[in-house]
Amino acid sequence: MTREEARRRIEELRALIRRYDYAYYVLDEPEVSDAEYDALFNELKALEAQFPDLITPDSPTQRVGGAPAEGFRKVRHRVPMLSLDNAFSDEELADFERRIIELAPDIPRPVEYSAEPKMDGLAISLRYEAGRLVEASTRGDGEVGEDVTRNAMTVRAIPLRLMTDTPPAVLEVRGEVFMTHAAFEALNRQQMERGEKPFANPRNAAAGSLRQLDPKVTAERQLSFYAYGWGEADDQVLADTYTDTMARLRQWGVPVNPLLEVVHGVEGMRDYFERMSARRARLAYDIDGVVFKVNSLQWQERLGYTSRAPRWAIARKFPAQEAWTLLEDVIVQVGRTGALTPVAKLKPVRVGGVTVSSATLHNFEEVARKDIRIGDTVIVRRAGDVIPEVVGPVLSKRPPDARPVVPPEKCPVCGSDVIREPGKAVLRCSGGLFCPAQRQRALEHFVSRKAMDIRGLGPKLIARLLEKGWVEHPDDLYHLTCEQLASLEGMGEKSARNLIDAIEASKNTTLPRFLFALGIPEVGEVTAENLAAHFGSLETIMQADAAALEAVPDIGEVVADNIVTFFRQPLNRKVIRGLLEAGVHWPEPVRAEAVADSPFAGRTVVLTGTLHSMTRGEAKARLTALGAHVTNSVSRRTDFVIVGESPGSKARKAEQLGVTMLDERQFLEMLDGSTP
Ligand code: NAD
Repeated sequence: MTREEARRRIEELRALIRRYDYAYYVLDEPEVSDAEYDALFNELKALEAQFPDLITPDSPTQRVGGAPAEGFRKVRHRVPMLSLDNAFSDEELADFERRIIELAPDIPRPVEYSAEPKMDGLAISLRYEAGRLVEASTRGDGEVGEDVTRNAMTVRAIPLRLMTDTPPAVLEVRGEVFMTHAAFEALNRQQMERGEKPFANPRNAAAGSLRQLDPKVTAERQLSFYAYGWGEADDQVLADTYTDTMARLRQWGVPVNPLLEVVHGVEGMRDYFERMSARRARLAYDIDGVVFKVNSLQWQERLGYTSRAPRWAIARKFPAQEAWTLLEDVIVQVGRTGALTPVAKLKPVRVGGVTVSSATLHNFEEVARKDIRIGDTVIVRRAGDVIPEVVGPVLSKRPPDARPVVPPEKCPVCGSDVIREPGKAVLRCSGGLFCPAQRQRALEHFVSRKAMDIRGLGPKLIARLLEKGWVEHPDDLYHLTCEQLASLEGMGEKSARNLIDAIEASKNTTLPRFLFALGIPEVGEVTAENLAAHFGSLETIMQADAAALEAVPDIGEVVADNIVTFFRQPLNRKVIRGLLEAGVHWPEPVRAEAVADSPFAGRTVVLTGTLHSMTRGEAKARLTALGAHVTNSVSRRTDFVIVGESPGSKARKAEQLGVTMLDERQFLEMLDGSTP
């Protein structure tokens, strides 16, 4: 790039960033996603690094945030409120330490850092004089912020007085006002009820709630606060290190994040980052990274500041969990039980570290509630390993020709009428197994690993078998021949043989697997196991009425009804008969009566953590054989929780509810005692 080209691009970027800053900081209505903003900002930084003579003092890279909004009294900060430099990778963390060592070659190694989450909210400065809160202000452009004193006074987490008999004459506490997920969800529920626009994320909600001209509105919102530093402060406040000073503030009643700790060197920073990445999804609030600061205040002073940020601190950011992209279309997917799910087709976008091009929209009611239209720019969120979801539209970007999503009246695959069960949000195709899409899904489910486990029979091959008319229902699979399969294009003699062998091998199964494979709506693996353990045979299950079924743990009215309805259908009965005639069989499970003397007989048991002597599946099978009901969640009705190594939240729940907990040794002893 020539100098002239760079100059033009730099001007362009600055103009864009200024505009986005205004929308974000002043109006609380971002025009682009954070990821997009960060990309532009980094491009500008890189260009300025390449052409340093083009840097001007008013460049966004040299300054902080946005101007204070009209309507608020302006507050000039005595000590500027700065931003933070970012690191998006481990290498950039190493660069950060390298720069520190360059600037301060005699700093003791390993360098000691404070480490804490980077709260995703907005910065606030709280000025205490003689221990009383006298002024609260937002960051604004770093030099001048907005007076939000009366609003801040309504926030419970912000102390109005410091808890000390000898308060400093002056202390400005700096920290982040944010909203927990629970408060955010409650607020958005309320917004909807009042017919007002929901907030896009907790950060927006926190900013919109604090920066209110009417403090009564702020008072209604549940805002939280954690301190992460100070501005003007008497010497008596300061200890030798940042973490010790924060401990002092905490003693005075100022909330400080309990996850604050001391780490050493680049290794220590990386390790903390990893740990927080793993915890992030379980925190009660959004964080967008973690912040490391040189812990010694003396060395902080030596390192100093740029016009925008301290040189002794860095924010190691997570990949953005949210991105904005175009909703190109909404298609309808037909599930195994006929449920019609709207699926968003998106212009591919990177979010949470992966490229996303489609996302579930759950059901049509939700699409209408969120007012999502085709042609909208939508916010896509992918938190942790959770499947991507569409949070909602960016209304400011809606084109005039955006089209509402119309729920189908006919199944898009088979043309059958669409039905809606009373009281339920889900639409269903009424075609049943007449619908090729349902037939396909039913077969995919039947052969899946936890059902009949027929390897080598993927969705594409199933589609071809359906097309050929060789297979319509699961029992037809057992009549396929090697010659037939081998005649399929791209299928060799050998793979045909292997598949036939796999189908043959699947005949030897268990009752729970068989029940699960049938695909009865809402009968998952655990329910299938409970059914098998309770009734002992397929015939008794098929004959059971709703009342008898409801006696089984985990089975309520709806599931009982599903089971009765399923076994009443002539087609389903025919398929089951076909399967049995083809030779599908299982060992009769040990009946509960036979082992009534086992301490587990008739008891409800939950497993958590890793066992050393057997897999969880084996433990489950042995317990079930002894007449226990193995369930997935702990409740007051649970009799035993078996706790292996690294147990999950179930152990905590069991402790809270006072459920009997067994460690592996106790469990094995009781199992041994049960063997006849
Ligand atoms: P920042 O939010 O990345 O980091 C600085 C801020 O972090 C501080 O001011 C402070 O409020 C906060 N913080 C949280 N926890 C902290 C802790 N433990 N210690 C110290 N500080 C802590 O920087 P910024 O300058 O406020 O904003 C830049 C970011 O905001 C961008 O990366 C972008 O993602 C977003 N942004 C988006 C748009 C948009 O249009 N979408 C516009 C402007 C900014």
